[in-house]
Amino acid sequence: MLPGCPLCREKRSEPVFRMRVPLFFNVAAAAGDTGRAYEMLSLVRCGNCRHLYNEAFDPPLAEAMYRDQPLTNVPVDASMFDRLHELLDWLPRGALDQKNVLEIGGGAGALARLLARRARHVTLFEPSSSLHKGMLPEDNISLINGFWPVDGGGLTVDLVLCRQVLEHLEDPLATMSGIAGGLAEGGYAYLEVPSLEFIEAYGAFTDVHIQHVQYFTKSTFIAAARSVGLVAEAVLDIKDGHDFGVLFRRGVAAPLLPNPTRAPALGPALLERIEAAKTAVAMLPPLLVLYGATPHAQMFLNGLDDVPPIMAVIDDNAQNHARALYSRAGLHPVSAPNSATLPADGCVLITAYLHDMAIGQKLRAGGFKGRIVTMRPQPLPSNPLGMEWLYASQLLK
Ligand SMILES: [Zn+2]
Repeated sequence: MLPGCPLCREKRSEPVFRMRVPLFFNVAAAAGDTGRAYEMLSLVRCGNCRHLYNEAFDPPLAEAMYRDQPLTNVPVDASMFDRLHELLDWLPRGALDQKNVLEIGGGAGALARLLARRARHVTLFEPSSSLHKGMLPEDNISLINGFWPVDGGGLTVDLVLCRQVLEHLEDPLATMSGIAGGLAEGGYAYLEVPSLEFIEAYGAFTDVHIQHVQYFTKSTFIAAARSVGLVAEAVLDIKDGHDFGVLFRRGVAAPLLPNPTRAPALGPALLERIEAAKTAVAMLPPLLVLYGATPHAQMFLNGLDDVPPIMAVIDDNAQNHARALYSRAGLHPVSAPNSATLPADGCVLITAYLHDMAIGQKLRAGGFKGRIVTMRPQPLPSNPLGMEWLYASQLLK
């Protein structure tokens, strides 16, 4: 249990949503049923600053959660590199060129390698032991396999990048404060998190899971950063509003004030969307192929009481092969896409919904003739691939 609001330390809160959820996004397929662990998630809203967080988060569980997990965010198609280039183009030129850069939580190291082309030096902290220096051949990258020390460890840099990390932490404010303290004069910090506004707008239950302790709106995030002396300069919307990034500089701290705005009713929106998912999946042909062994896929399976017959879960990231998703029905092993796991006239439900268009294009280019359905939470624009939106029948009529 968290002792109070992670941002303003207020003890009063109101309940928003409770659900029993998988502890892991995937498990080793060889582990069999013994690997299927669940924990309670309990979202509450702070009575003072209105921040949303999982008060049931148990810090010792974090170690179990991340130990032996394969690397995420391994780029598997060109569009994933495009996003990294877009970020580099968006940053002020003077923030990066010939500068000392720190990346906190580097995933597979793709961004660090791009940063290293322009920076003087890149220091990368990544706790996953799956990332090793051999994967980062550049001389000007130092890899530290571990968590970034929140006191900064004495390192002073010109630019800090911390993407998709703060939402995982029980005390994100301590990390933000450490980042502010480690910035050289005139330095920048780029901090990126998933958007609570996206989850609220679409009842995106697949984006609510135990790995995320914090659910930030833009305004709460910016106000929390301000309370530790980081002043927002610019905001970047990412992946149709699924995430956002903020560029900060050091400035005068201002306390986090009570937030009088009324928050949307998130609990009912999540439950409504789960019901819509059950109805929609029941209308799809059996022997579905799920494309993408993502956290979203795992949470999707968790939301359905009776998992439909699934022929295969396929994924382009080889690190996920020999792993398995799990549901109350059992394990769902992950394999590579091939003619056995992906029949030309099957029905694919794209669970890696952030990449649905790229996956759809790849499927059609490879001669796939069957139905392609995406479980993206937001409405799908008409598209030349004939891709369907899972929720169309419930929500668009
Ligand atoms: Zn608060």
